[in-house]
Amino acid sequence: MDRDEILHYLKTSNRNGDLFQKADETRKKHCGDKVHLRGIIEFSNHCCRNCLYCGLRRDNKKIKRYRMPPQEIVALALKIARKGVKTIVLQSGDDFWYKRKTIASIITNIKKQTDAAITLSLGERPLDHYRNWRDAGADRYLMRHETANPNLYEMLHPGKSLIERLSLLSALKDMGYQIGAGNIVGIPGQDLKDLAEDIWLIKELDSDMAGIGPFIPQKDTPLSNCPPGDLELTLRALALIRITSKNIHLPATTAVATLDRKEGLLMALKAGANVIMPDFTPQRYSQKYQIYDNKQNITLDMAKAVIFKAKRETGKDKGDSLKCRHYKRHPEA
Ligand code: SAM
Repeated sequence: MDRDEILHYLKTSNRNGDLFQKADETRKKHCGDKVHLRGIIEFSNHCCRNCLYCGLRRDNKKIKRYRMPPQEIVALALKIARKGVKTIVLQSGDDFWYKRKTIASIITNIKKQTDAAITLSLGERPLDHYRNWRDAGADRYLMRHETANPNLYEMLHPGKSLIERLSLLSALKDMGYQIGAGNIVGIPGQDLKDLAEDIWLIKELDSDMAGIGPFIPQKDTPLSNCPPGDLELTLRALALIRITSKNIHLPATTAVATLDRKEGLLMALKAGANVIMPDFTPQRYSQKYQIYDNKQNITLDMAKAVIFKAKRETGKDKGDSLKCRHYKRHPEA
């Protein structure tokens, strides 16, 4: 499928479900029936960036900020692993209060006591931080490219550029991380051509995973009055990523679950997704991780129930990348 075909399918309503069926078949052929669980800890909502769409943005003075102490993060990660979830995702705003060494020691402590994979999602840092964390045992790095339109990127992320973001993703890949790109569907200023470029870029990057979800407004941001992204369009984009990128890990994201609390996760699993990320952040913190309004809380039980409903299996292993460069690096994977 080339860019024009992607655009055609984005423009075409998928009323009879053919596109989702094709994505589901591609998922089955290239990834199998397992749905991998990634247990997420949102350990800090401090952020030095000022992204126009995000409730954690620096200029949001209304948000109550928190930071989880490193020992609490480690203890929670071990608890998640004991529940059989073999990937721990550590996510935060771009928060430099956690020094390179602090994050490295969190990683080392978790790795000493479990065989779980660690995914970091801490935003943009100097390369020596990434290198140090990889040496400490971090396996994966999630950093969405957000939008493949460079002008829109600069508008939405004051002082930052798409080129910078992509060069970091490429450096992470060279360091041996499994990388995750991804974008927001329906972010104000985006058109369908931009969205087709997002899908194309994910394929070009040969990304190990990609997180995509609809834009959802947050009341204390400059984009508070903008409409949310369209759920059906998000599912079409998800399906097109599955069809074009084939053996990529694709989560049914929290933002999809937020737009349709009853059916969102199930619909995403049927449109090509093969990952769910239950949130283990203690409630006293998670209620303050308001990147957008009314964020759905995906629990482990909720994730298992939807996997059962979709007639799929819960992955019992780490669910590493399916891309062959990682097989070469870890032949036992
Ligand atoms: N600081 C890290 C980074 O920049 O990659 C990770 C945390 S950031 C809050 C995680 C993701 O939330 C972003 O990549 C963005 O796509 C998503 N996000 C933030 N605000 C959003 C909104 N209003 N609607 C949809 N997604 C949003």
